Amino acid sequence: MPLRSPLYSQRSLVLTLIALLGAGFLATSLLSYYASRASIRDNIVNTELPLTSDTVYSEIQKDLVRPILISSMMSRDTFMRDWVVNGENDPGQMTRYLDEVMTHYGAYTAFFVSNGTLTYYHAKGVLKQVKVDEPRDAWYFRVRDMADPYEINVDPDLANKDNLTFFINYKVYDYNNRFIGAAGVGLTVDAVIKLIDKYQQRYQRSVYFVDTFGRLVLTGAEGGPQGAQVGQTLGELDSMKSLVSQLPKPHSGSYEYSGQGQGHFLNVRFIPELNWYLFVDKREDGALSEIRQSLYLNLLICLIVTLTVLALLNRVIKRYQGKIQTQATLDSLTELPNRRGFDLLAAQAMHEAQREPRPLTALLLDLDHFKALNDTHGHLAGDQVLIGFARDLESCLRHSDIVCRWGGEEFIVLLKDTDGDNGKMIAEKIRRHVEKQRYAYHGKQLQVTVSIGLTTLQADDTLHTLLSRADQAMYRAKHSGRNRTCVEMPHSSYA
Ligand code: GH3
Ligand code: MG
Ligand code: MG
Repeated sequence: MPLRSPLYSQRSLVLTLIALLGAGFLATSLLSYYASRASIRDNIVNTELPLTSDTVYSEIQKDLVRPILISSMMSRDTFMRDWVVNGENDPGQMTRYLDEVMTHYGAYTAFFVSNGTLTYYHAKGVLKQVKVDEPRDAWYFRVRDMADPYEINVDPDLANKDNLTFFINYKVYDYNNRFIGAAGVGLTVDAVIKLIDKYQQRYQRSVYFVDTFGRLVLTGAEGGPQGAQVGQTLGELDSMKSLVSQLPKPHSGSYEYSGQGQGHFLNVRFIPELNWYLFVDKREDGALSEIRQSLYLNLLICLIVTLTVLALLNRVIKRYQGKIQTQATLDSLTELPNRRGFDLLAAQAMHEAQREPRPLTALLLDLDHFKALNDTHGHLAGDQVLIGFARDLESCLRHSDIVCRWGGEEFIVLLKDTDGDNGKMIAEKIRRHVEKQRYAYHGKQLQVTVSIGLTTLQADDTLHTLLSRADQAMYRAKHSGRNRTCVEMPHSSYA
């Protein structure tokens, strides 16, 4: 018989239990996971990112907008306009003015380019003459011709060892609204990049600026999304494809998109002073990894609980199965195997004996005139005799022999490795032992005899043919006077 877990025999119960526990645990874990995820997402989209954006914006206003205001103020400054209108006579005056603006406001540079003389003044003196055909001076002619009052431009600063500088180029007009030059201040881009890096580190999200065409205009030191450089458009970036498809041009608002297998939350805010959009982007992974971990932990706990329940169930079923099996295969009065128990044991013993082959002897024992004993002394006395007989029977047998209460006052014994002659000796031993035995019941000494039918196993025997022969032998024992052993062999019989 293959060794199987008791759980195997209760497959439907186990499967139902696993399904119930699994579904229950999974449902509660997933529900709580999705509920916390929804609230975290909600918090990120509606509170965290807008708050970061507000903070960054207010810092921007402080750090970036201030130079715009200073430049704007310079463009309206009456000294500057008077000095130009009056013929740019003393360059030292302009230089002092620019130096004053630079040092007082902590700018990196301050400049004025006169449209009349095309002279570039800065805080340290006259730098040069701007020329139409000089690529480095293209910015000036662009500013001169543009409609907007100012632009923000990132260029190397000739006056400061070509450091990349963030210029605010403001148009300057005279009192008759004629263009007379461009003035402004500059910040090193390094400082602005540091500013962005500071935001990124402080808030654990990426911060960058995009112009109205979707071009990256300002990023941290490590670039924008996917390390993209200034000048690249978001549409060129793989990770931004899904965003760009829902947002072809930057627009203020909150967005969710996925790029390179990562979910992202994005807040876009227009900064009118810069005419740029501020992008504050947070990866879903970072935000949700904690609750995902707690989901995994939850599921692990559920698995452990399910396995523990199954292990406990396995033990309980095993115990009850054992009990039931014992009850089902044992006779409750004599505690000998009953017919069901015998069938299992006999089948195996016969199989082994026929395979080897080895001799096997079967005895069918029936107590004589047992009805009379019951009638005389009562049923309980009969029971007592049956119990005593069972013990005596066992005492005459080896441990390896198979004995069973076949029913009523009939018993079967299979003697392993025993031929007919030895079998007969054992049968007679039993018969004589029983004959001499007295069974005590309520002060009475009861006596009983037994008739035994004997046969030996043949190669082509089934349990049925074997027992039929033993039954015939027993029948003859009864009919020839009881309290004896008769032998029945196939095709021949002898007493
Ligand atoms: P024979 O010598 O021909 O075998 O006569 P007998 O009386 O033993 O045969 P019969 O088969 O007619 O009677 C068997 C009796 O055994 C009848 C039945 O009441 C009794 N018996 C069967 N099972 C039990 C039991 O569990 N307890 C008791 N006390 N008696 C039982
Ligand atoms: Mg009988
Ligand atoms: Mg009988």
